[in-house]
Amino acid sequence: QIAQKVRTQNLGQVLTEAATFYKQQLREHPHAIAYLKRRGLSGDIAQRFGLGFAPFEPTLSSVFDDYNESSSLLDAGLCKQREGQNRRYDFFRERIMFPIRNTKGQIIGFGGRVLDKSEPKYLNSPETPLFQKGQELYGLFEARSAISQQQYALIVEGYMDVVALAQAGLANAVATLGTATSTAHVQKLFRFTDTIVFSFDGDSAGRKAAWRAMINALPLATDTRTIKFLFLPPEHDPDTFVREKGADAFAAEVQTAMTLSQFLLFGLNQAAPDGSAEARARQLHLAKPLLQSLPNGALRTHIIQALAAQLNSTPSDVSEYCELNAALRP
Ligand code: ATP
Ligand code: MN
Ligand code: MN
Ligand code: MN
Repeated sequence: QIAQKVRTQNLGQVLTEAATFYKQQLREHPHAIAYLKRRGLSGDIAQRFGLGFAPFEPTLSSVFDDYNESSSLLDAGLCKQREGQNRRYDFFRERIMFPIRNTKGQIIGFGGRVLDKSEPKYLNSPETPLFQKGQELYGLFEARSAISQQQYALIVEGYMDVVALAQAGLANAVATLGTATSTAHVQKLFRFTDTIVFSFDGDSAGRKAAWRAMINALPLATDTRTIKFLFLPPEHDPDTFVREKGADAFAAEVQTAMTLSQFLLFGLNQAAPDGSAEARARQLHLAKPLLQSLPNGALRTHIIQALAAQLNSTPSDVSEYCELNAALRP
């Protein structure tokens, strides 16, 4: 166990030194700075998020040549080595680097974006004992004080969304690392605030992601918490929206965001809208697991009532069909 601790300590040190290297490389590569400028980012915001650049040359592997003690670039996932070969090569090359911190502020991994149209557009460093992608939220460390000040947090899809919103003065945004929003993500964020607003991309992928995020957030939707969904126009994500229309326009959108109950009822209705007996049965069928994962409370009671109205049914019939008998479900 002590060995494990030493390992992760060294891992943290390697990641921190790598971040310093990437920052320094950004200063020395005008084309990478130009990319960030084209995307409307200031030097100040780049500094605040510790953005860097992984060039083709020099490589991390060459700079850290002698760094080969108990934990290495290989362990950190910043370097790869082919089976049976000595030569190492860098995992990130010619990418803008976004350091990912845990809530203590320690760097635990990186996201890297290409400067052009090549694929994959983003890469995340591989998982390590310090870095579990499904648990971490990009920007949470940087956003903590703004979240408590503004009394709500935004969850967005991308690194650039977080950074662009922060530059516009909305510093309370975090992003998942290219994975769906999990219950663990939502739980983590609820340690910092009672109100979460999801703002995914306006495209159909973003809308689907919002529905999945809602499903995963349901178990945490207690009566003292607020969960909302902001749907941007299809051509926008938070980054492009805030850059084109400004922070006030974005904040206005937040004000009119859909509540969880509205989104849930709306989504069910969208799935089977024609008002037939079959459509109502289908909605009820879809609602069952959702209502079952909601905590037993006033919000659930109201959603049951609203769903009953939407289905021309009664709350007790809805509850019975969905097996929501409180006595059986403590
Ligand atoms: P940008 O504005 O820089 O083009 P984006 O954040 O708008 O990027 P999206 O295509 O909307 O990019 O993807 C949202 C998020 O999903 C990204 O920020 C990234 O975290 C993740 N992602 C996208 N493509 C990949 C990929 N190929 N591999 C891993 N994660 C990805
Ligand atoms: Mn998208
Ligand atoms: Mn996007
Ligand atoms: Mn984008």
